[in-house]
Amino acid sequence: MRWNDRQRAMLRAMGIRLFEPAAVTQEDDGLPAQAPRPSPAVVARTARPAVAATVAAPAVPRQAARPDVATLDWNALRDAVAACRACALCESRQQTVFGVGHRHAHWMIVGEAPGEQEDRQGEPFVGPAGQLLDNMLRAIGLTRDEAPPERQVFIANTLKCRPPKNRNPDPAETAQCAPFLERQIALVSPRIILAMGRFAAQALLASDEPLGKLRGRVHSYRGVPVVVTYHPAYLLRSLADKARTWEDLCLAASIVQAG
Ligand code: URA
Repeated sequence: MRWNDRQRAMLRAMGIRLFEPAAVTQEDDGLPAQAPRPSPAVVARTARPAVAATVAAPAVPRQAARPDVATLDWNALRDAVAACRACALCESRQQTVFGVGHRHAHWMIVGEAPGEQEDRQGEPFVGPAGQLLDNMLRAIGLTRDEAPPERQVFIANTLKCRPPKNRNPDPAETAQCAPFLERQIALVSPRIILAMGRFAAQALLASDEPLGKLRGRVHSYRGVPVVVTYHPAYLLRSLADKARTWEDLCLAASIVQAG
Protein backbone atom coordinates (compact mmCIF):
# COMPACT_ATOMS: atom_id res chain seq x y z
CA MET A 1 0.00 0.00 0.00
CA ARG A 2 1.39 3.43 -0.90
CA TRP A 3 0.22 6.59 0.78
CA ASN A 4 0.31 10.18 -0.32
CA ASP A 5 1.84 12.85 1.95
CA ARG A 6 -1.50 13.99 3.37
CA GLN A 7 -2.56 10.45 4.22
CA ARG A 8 0.82 9.77 5.83
CA ALA A 9 0.60 12.89 7.96
CA MET A 10 -2.93 12.09 9.13
CA LEU A 11 -2.20 8.46 9.87
CA ARG A 12 1.00 9.22 11.78
CA ALA A 13 -0.77 11.88 13.81
CA MET A 14 -3.39 9.30 14.72
CA GLY A 15 -0.68 6.96 16.00
CA ILE A 16 -0.98 4.58 13.05
CA ARG A 17 2.35 3.16 11.92
CA LEU A 18 2.82 2.77 8.21
CA PHE A 19 4.58 -0.07 6.56
CA GLU A 20 5.46 0.55 2.96
CA PRO A 21 7.53 -1.37 0.43
CA ALA A 22 11.22 -1.26 1.31
CA ALA A 23 12.16 -0.29 -2.22
CA VAL A 24 11.05 3.31 -1.90
CA THR A 25 13.10 5.62 -4.07
CA GLN A 26 14.34 9.08 -3.05
CA GLU A 27 12.13 10.60 -5.73
CA ASP A 28 8.84 9.22 -4.43
CA ASP A 29 9.23 8.71 -0.67
CA GLY A 30 7.59 12.03 0.13
CA LEU A 31 10.56 13.44 2.05
CA PRO A 32 12.51 16.55 1.06
CA ALA A 33 15.65 15.63 -0.84
CA GLN A 34 17.88 16.58 2.11
CA ALA A 35 15.88 14.80 4.80
CA PRO A 36 17.71 11.99 6.60
CA ARG A 37 16.48 8.58 5.51
CA PRO A 38 16.61 5.29 7.33
CA SER A 39 19.39 2.98 6.24
CA PRO A 40 18.37 -0.02 4.11
CA ALA A 41 19.00 -2.17 7.20
CA VAL A 42 16.48 -0.18 9.22
CA VAL A 43 13.96 -0.28 6.39
CA ALA A 44 14.41 -4.04 6.11
CA ARG A 45 13.90 -4.46 9.85
CA THR A 46 10.67 -2.41 9.85
CA ALA A 47 9.14 -3.79 6.66
CA ARG A 48 6.27 -6.26 7.24
CA PRO A 49 5.19 -7.91 4.00
CA ALA A 50 1.77 -9.17 5.12
CA VAL A 51 0.60 -6.22 7.25
CA ALA A 52 -0.35 -2.88 5.75
CA ALA A 53 -0.72 -0.94 9.00
CA THR A 54 -0.84 -1.61 12.72
CA VAL A 55 -2.57 0.58 15.25
CA ALA A 56 -0.55 1.59 18.31
CA ALA A 57 -2.80 2.97 21.02
CA PRO A 58 -1.24 6.18 22.41
CA ALA A 59 -1.32 6.61 26.19
CA VAL A 60 -3.20 9.91 25.88
CA PRO A 61 -5.58 10.43 22.97
CA ARG A 62 -3.82 12.78 20.60
CA GLN A 63 -6.50 13.60 18.11
CA ALA A 64 -8.49 16.26 19.93
CA ALA A 65 -11.40 17.66 17.97
CA ARG A 66 -9.79 20.43 15.94
CA PRO A 67 -11.65 23.66 15.33
CA ASP A 68 -11.63 25.06 11.82
CA VAL A 69 -8.39 26.95 12.31
CA ALA A 70 -8.90 29.12 9.24
CA THR A 71 -11.83 30.91 10.89
CA LEU A 72 -10.33 31.53 14.34
CA ASP A 73 -9.66 34.97 15.80
CA TRP A 74 -6.45 35.68 17.71
CA ASN A 75 -7.66 34.49 21.11
CA ALA A 76 -9.27 31.33 19.76
CA LEU A 77 -6.18 30.61 17.69
CA ARG A 78 -3.91 30.99 20.70
CA ASP A 79 -6.18 28.63 22.67
CA ALA A 80 -6.22 26.10 19.82
CA VAL A 81 -2.42 26.08 19.64
CA ALA A 82 -2.13 25.66 23.42
CA ALA A 83 -4.59 22.74 23.37
CA CYS A 84 -3.20 21.05 20.26
CA ARG A 85 -2.48 17.33 20.57
CA ALA A 86 -2.35 16.56 16.87
CA CYS A 87 1.16 15.11 16.84
CA ALA A 88 3.59 13.43 19.19
CA LEU A 89 5.40 16.68 20.05
CA CYS A 90 2.60 17.45 22.50
CA GLU A 91 3.90 14.62 24.68
CA SER A 92 7.36 16.11 25.20
CA ARG A 93 6.75 19.87 25.11
CA GLN A 94 6.71 21.99 28.25
CA GLN A 95 4.46 24.49 26.52
CA THR A 96 3.48 25.63 23.06
CA VAL A 97 5.21 28.67 21.59
CA PHE A 98 2.57 30.72 19.82
CA GLY A 99 4.53 33.74 18.61
CA VAL A 100 4.97 37.36 19.64
CA GLY A 101 4.69 40.80 18.16
CA HIS A 102 2.37 43.32 16.57
CA ARG A 103 -0.86 41.82 15.31
CA HIS A 104 -0.67 44.02 12.22
CA ALA A 105 3.09 43.99 11.78
CA HIS A 106 4.44 44.92 8.36
CA TRP A 107 7.20 42.35 8.85
CA MET A 108 6.60 38.75 9.82
CA ILE A 109 9.59 36.61 10.79
CA VAL A 110 9.14 32.85 10.47
CA GLY A 111 11.60 30.47 12.10
CA GLU A 112 11.77 26.72 12.45
CA ALA A 113 10.69 25.45 15.86
CA PRO A 114 11.16 26.26 19.54
CA GLY A 115 14.39 25.17 21.16
CA GLU A 116 15.00 24.36 24.80
CA GLN A 117 14.78 27.93 26.10
CA GLU A 118 11.78 28.80 23.95
CA ASP A 119 10.00 25.67 25.19
CA ARG A 120 10.69 26.79 28.76
CA GLN A 121 9.77 30.45 28.32
CA GLY A 122 6.96 30.17 25.75
CA GLU A 123 8.45 32.81 23.46
CA PRO A 124 10.19 32.32 20.11
CA PHE A 125 13.87 33.10 19.59
CA VAL A 126 14.91 33.84 23.16
CA GLY A 127 18.20 31.89 23.13
CA PRO A 128 21.52 32.98 21.55
CA ALA A 129 20.00 32.78 18.05
CA GLY A 130 17.27 35.11 19.26
CA GLN A 131 19.79 37.66 20.44
CA LEU A 132 21.38 37.63 17.01
CA LEU A 133 17.93 37.97 15.44
CA ASP A 134 17.19 41.00 17.63
CA ASN A 135 20.48 42.58 16.53
CA MET A 136 19.69 41.92 12.88
CA LEU A 137 16.26 43.46 13.29
CA ARG A 138 17.70 46.48 15.08
CA ALA A 139 20.11 47.03 12.18
CA ILE A 140 17.18 47.69 9.86
CA GLY A 141 15.13 49.67 12.36
CA LEU A 142 12.89 46.83 13.54
CA THR A 143 12.18 45.39 16.97
CA ARG A 144 10.14 42.76 18.76
CA ASP A 145 9.38 45.28 21.52
CA GLU A 146 6.31 47.49 21.62
CA ALA A 147 6.34 49.85 18.61
CA PRO A 148 4.10 50.89 15.70
CA PRO A 149 3.34 48.15 13.13
CA GLU A 150 5.94 49.36 10.67
CA ARG A 151 8.66 48.81 13.31
CA GLN A 152 7.41 46.00 15.55
CA VAL A 153 7.65 42.62 13.84
CA PHE A 154 5.60 39.50 14.48
CA ILE A 155 7.75 36.42 15.12
CA ALA A 156 6.38 32.91 14.71
CA ASN A 157 7.73 29.45 14.10
CA THR A 158 6.76 26.77 11.61
CA LEU A 159 6.26 24.37 14.52
CA LYS A 160 4.68 25.53 17.76
CA CYS A 161 6.22 22.73 19.85
CA ARG A 162 9.83 21.80 20.47
CA PRO A 163 11.07 18.68 18.70
CA PRO A 164 12.87 16.51 21.31
CA LYS A 165 16.61 17.22 21.48
CA ASN A 166 16.07 19.91 18.82
CA ARG A 167 15.92 17.30 16.08
CA ASN A 168 14.74 18.35 12.64
CA PRO A 169 10.99 18.74 12.24
CA ASP A 170 9.27 15.74 10.74
CA PRO A 171 7.21 16.36 7.57
CA ALA A 172 4.09 15.04 9.31
CA GLU A 173 4.59 17.47 12.21
CA THR A 174 5.07 20.32 9.78
CA ALA A 175 1.88 19.35 7.97
CA GLN A 176 -0.11 19.18 11.21
CA CYS A 177 1.12 22.57 12.39
CA ALA A 178 0.82 24.40 9.04
CA PRO A 179 -2.78 25.63 9.54
CA PHE A 180 -1.71 27.57 12.64
CA LEU A 181 1.02 29.49 10.83
CA GLU A 182 -1.27 29.94 7.86
CA ARG A 183 -3.91 31.53 10.09
CA GLN A 184 -1.33 33.73 11.84
CA ILE A 185 -0.17 35.03 8.47
CA ALA A 186 -3.75 35.68 7.38
CA LEU A 187 -4.51 37.59 10.60
CA VAL A 188 -1.31 39.67 10.56
CA SER A 189 -1.49 40.22 6.80
CA PRO A 190 2.16 41.33 6.67
CA ARG A 191 3.81 43.21 3.82
CA ILE A 192 6.77 40.86 3.89
CA ILE A 193 7.58 37.45 5.34
CA LEU A 194 11.20 36.76 6.20
CA ALA A 195 11.65 32.98 6.23
CA MET A 196 14.67 32.08 8.32
CA GLY A 197 16.37 28.80 7.51
CA ARG A 198 15.67 25.87 5.26
CA PHE A 199 12.73 24.39 7.17
CA ALA A 200 10.76 27.62 7.36
CA ALA A 201 11.45 28.41 3.72
CA GLN A 202 10.63 24.95 2.42
CA ALA A 203 7.48 24.69 4.53
CA LEU A 204 6.13 28.08 3.47
CA LEU A 205 7.00 27.65 -0.17
CA ALA A 206 6.14 23.94 -0.38
CA SER A 207 9.55 23.46 -1.95
CA ASP A 208 12.44 21.08 -1.46
CA GLU A 209 15.00 23.37 -3.03
CA PRO A 210 18.05 24.07 -0.87
CA LEU A 211 18.24 27.38 0.94
CA GLY A 212 21.01 28.63 -1.33
CA LYS A 213 18.68 28.36 -4.31
CA LEU A 214 15.72 29.95 -2.54
CA ARG A 215 17.69 33.02 -1.42
CA GLY A 216 18.10 36.13 -3.52
CA ARG A 217 14.64 36.24 -5.10
CA VAL A 218 11.17 37.19 -4.01
CA HIS A 219 8.68 34.37 -3.56
CA SER A 220 5.00 34.53 -2.69
CA TYR A 221 2.94 32.89 0.04
CA ARG A 222 -0.74 33.40 -0.72
CA GLY A 223 0.04 36.77 -2.26
CA VAL A 224 2.44 37.88 0.51
CA PRO A 225 6.04 38.43 -0.66
CA VAL A 226 8.53 36.06 0.95
CA VAL A 227 12.29 36.57 1.24
CA VAL A 228 14.40 33.63 2.37
CA THR A 229 17.52 34.00 4.47
CA TYR A 230 19.81 32.04 6.76
CA HIS A 231 18.70 30.91 10.18
CA PRO A 232 20.34 32.94 12.98
CA ALA A 233 21.52 29.72 14.69
CA TYR A 234 23.41 28.87 11.51
CA LEU A 235 24.85 32.38 11.34
CA LEU A 236 26.26 31.96 14.84
CA ARG A 237 28.46 29.21 13.38
CA SER A 238 29.07 30.72 9.96
CA LEU A 239 30.04 34.36 10.20
CA ALA A 240 30.84 34.51 6.49
CA ASP A 241 27.16 34.32 5.58
CA LYS A 242 26.22 37.36 7.67
CA ALA A 243 26.99 39.62 4.70
CA ARG A 244 24.57 37.62 2.55
CA THR A 245 21.95 37.89 5.25
CA TRP A 246 22.35 41.64 5.16
CA GLU A 247 21.63 41.54 1.41
CA ASP A 248 18.49 39.51 2.13
CA LEU A 249 17.31 42.02 4.73
CA CYS A 250 17.89 44.86 2.29
CA LEU A 251 15.91 43.01 -0.37
CA ALA A 252 13.03 42.54 2.06
CA ALA A 253 13.18 46.20 3.14
CA SER A 254 13.07 47.34 -0.47
CA ILE A 255 9.84 45.38 -0.99
CA VAL A 256 8.21 46.91 2.06
CA GLN A 257 9.26 50.39 0.96
CA ALA A 258 8.00 49.82 -2.59
CA GLY A 259 4.65 48.59 -1.29
N1 URA B 1 15.08 28.59 16.36
C1 URA B 1 13.91 28.81 15.74
O1 URA B 1 13.78 28.59 14.55
N2 URA B 1 12.91 29.31 16.46
C2 URA B 1 13.02 29.59 17.75
O2 URA B 1 12.05 30.05 18.34
C3 URA B 1 14.25 29.35 18.38
C4 URA B 1 15.28 28.85 17.66
